[in-house]
Amino acid sequence: MKACKNCRMIVFSNEKKCPKCGGELSERFSGMIIIMEPERSEIAKLASVNAIGTYAIKVK
Ligand SMILES: [Zn+2]
Repeated sequence: MKACKNCRMIVFSNEKKCPKCGGELSERFSGMIIIMEPERSEIAKLASVNAIGTYAIKVK
């Protein structure tokens, strides 16, 4: 499991680049949030996420 350094999306498959933005992936991340309704979610706003998915809170 890896997280994108750019958009912080968590990638479960064995991709080398982020399927969403093409950013670099890192194995070193902490925290995980699942965004189901980005328009209505306060967490999504806090994490500045605008699409459905699983995101890391911090990516190193
Ligand atoms: Zn990305």
